[in-house]
Amino acid sequence: MKHKKVIIPIIIGLVCILTYLAVDIVSGQKTNAVEVVINNKPLFIAQDKAQVEKEVARVVAREEKRIGNQITLAYQPQYHMVLVPRDEIASQSEITKAIEESLLLKTSAAQIRVNGQPTVCVADAATANQILSDLKVCMSNCTENEKIVKADFVEKVEIEEGIFPVREVMVAADALALLETGDVSPIEYTVKPGDSLWMIARNHDTRVANIMALNNLKTEDLQLGQKLLISCSNPLVSVESVIEGKKTEVIPYTTRVTTSKSVSSTQVKQNGQNGEKQVSYVLTKKNGRVTENKVLAEVITRKPVDRIVVTGTRSSYTMTASRGGSHVGGLSWPLSGGITSGYGAGRGHTGIDIDGDTGDSIRAAAGGTVTSAGRNGTYGLMVTIDHGNGLKTRYAHCSSILVKAGQEVSRGQVIARVGSTGRSTGSHLHFEVISGGSFQNPLRYLD
Ligand SMILES: [Zn+2]
Repeated sequence: MKHKKVIIPIIIGLVCILTYLAVDIVSGQKTNAVEVVINNKPLFIAQDKAQVEKEVARVVAREEKRIGNQITLAYQPQYHMVLVPRDEIASQSEITKAIEESLLLKTSAAQIRVNGQPTVCVADAATANQILSDLKVCMSNCTENEKIVKADFVEKVEIEEGIFPVREVMVAADALALLETGDVSPIEYTVKPGDSLWMIARNHDTRVANIMALNNLKTEDLQLGQKLLISCSNPLVSVESVIEGKKTEVIPYTTRVTTSKSVSSTQVKQNGQNGEKQVSYVLTKKNGRVTENKVLAEVITRKPVDRIVVTGTRSSYTMTASRGGSHVGGLSWPLSGGITSGYGAGRGHTGIDIDGDTGDSIRAAAGGTVTSAGRNGTYGLMVTIDHGNGLKTRYAHCSSILVKAGQEVSRGQVIARVGSTGRSTGSHLHFEVISGGSFQNPLRYLD
């Protein structure tokens, strides 16, 4: 009885094993395959060695072409013969992925480190050096007439050569873009009253052209409530640069008013002409934004010609309000340029049109408070300044506005740029003077 109890389980066990093997062999569920081992770690199971070698060669050739550098196998794959169920064999795409993601493919490369932290990895030290010098140039944001005297990274930037996984190696252009802008996705911005593209760009540390491109905008006109995508840059390095530049600046002419008893209205005796000066300057910039601006020298290349206005002191009752009246003065010219359409002009023109190019500076005619800054129907982008004592000035058809409602401005401060927004046939400034709630001829107020 004692022996029987031990033997029965053994027999049952043997039967089970034999049955299992028999089923296996008959149904053919197991097959010969190779287990691919890299650095003592099993990676995947493949049909045969040739398939794996062919796939490794294909990935190596593709990656060598991408990074422009030779790739070495960090480890020789080892192949172990195995008998496995068919469904354990990796598919072609799984094999490709495993080869790409494993440490199998390595290459000599150069890593750029910022304050000791790895950022990007590129083909070699020469490429890394080129990226760093290109980065200093593009992050200095110079114009044609400016040259970089000195540009340095604020952080400690180093290049480390070594052997790196191929998957970490980037092409130069991608590496440069990542260092310059960081890895950030665009945010959504809703246009508010008084906004201009220029202001939005400045507040988000980006450029008008970038916002226009990202949103497929054809013009700089914005609608209240319009949604804009804005990609703010978040550079992985900072560049501090010193830049020398030259520019030509306009010297606005001054208007001299003389009085005469022999005339009864205001007459222009001599047209004013702007002068020009060459200004050389030094800028200190951080990531392309000016932090310090120093004028080195100014050379006048053309002297301005005064505008001479004769104002009559003889009283005249035949003058109509639209043609002028006595000179009040007190306002400075918001823009120097010819008057292309006068006040009244036969069809109730409520201001004067001063000729200018898109982008020219529009200056506050006097100090005051900005009461509105934004889109206003046919006026396009417009600024209104309240100077107190019931006197207001308006500046219309601007291409951009540089002030906000509620802001205090001083006489001569640049408040907007000339444009052709709203109902306008070309770039000019439509300038209005309102006193006591009614339109006035601006020429009576301009000094
Ligand atoms: Zn006008």
